[in-house]
Amino acid sequence: MGGRDTDIVLLDENGIRCDGRKVNETRKVTIKAGVLKNANGSAYIEFGDNKILVGVYGPRDVHPKHMSDTDTGILRCRYHMAPFSVGERKNPAPSRREVEISKVIKEALEPAVMLKEFPRTAVDVFMEVLQADGGTRCAALTGASVALADAGIPMRDLVAGCAAGKAADAVILDVNNEEDQAGQADLPIGYMPNLKKITLLQLDGVLTPEEYKQCIEIGIDGCNQVYEIQKKALQDKFFASGEKQ
Ligand code: UDP
Repeated sequence: MGGRDTDIVLLDENGIRCDGRKVNETRKVTIKAGVLKNANGSAYIEFGDNKILVGVYGPRDVHPKHMSDTDTGILRCRYHMAPFSVGERKNPAPSRREVEISKVIKEALEPAVMLKEFPRTAVDVFMEVLQADGGTRCAALTGASVALADAGIPMRDLVAGCAAGKAADAVILDVNNEEDQAGQADLPIGYMPNLKKITLLQLDGVLTPEEYKQCIEIGIDGCNQVYEIQKKALQDKFFASGEKQ
């Protein structure tokens, strides 16, 4: 962030971004639910060039036992980047950044999942980033919601993720890696479209109050678009025999 890479033209004179998108356009998002045989629920998501696999296990016994809650089930999330997911080999040991992202994704999913009926158990969400290109926390959150629904975990709503931000002095939707590195701000959003509630909001960079408002508006619009793709992935899995709604 902060104009480190000056060689990249983030926005040309026609308002087209470095990957060919318009300012208010998301990258292509594809999601497939139920891709892992040995998990209770799973999803594979491509969000532009991000590729992430999510496996959900549970509700199941909690180990160590003292972490369990007698009143409710608990949600545990692990976001991890494969060593080959980025240009420079990533150390496979959990970094501070991965611990932080695991925590914010857990907190973004908690308002959606209903684990009261599963006291003393845990639902584990494993997110493996196979390829990263900026916006992995939003992509992982989006995939995790679908994998939780695929596992049959009762949910109030899906959580859709999409970032907004600022690059070349313009407010943009769905910040890619170049824009994240050389741009001015990145504002990842997690949003429950049906309940109209934001569950993840972070800001890296600087925005004026007016730009912030615009980012929230287009970010929510991006989440609404992602939500349609999430629902489609679940419909394709559960109504594959022609019962599509
Ligand atoms: N990144 C990287 N190496 C790392 C961590 C991140 O190359 O060890 C890249 C990766 O493409 C990631 C981007 O930097 O998507 C932005 O990372 P950030 O921490 O902003 O999180 P994200 O935007 O992925 O949610």
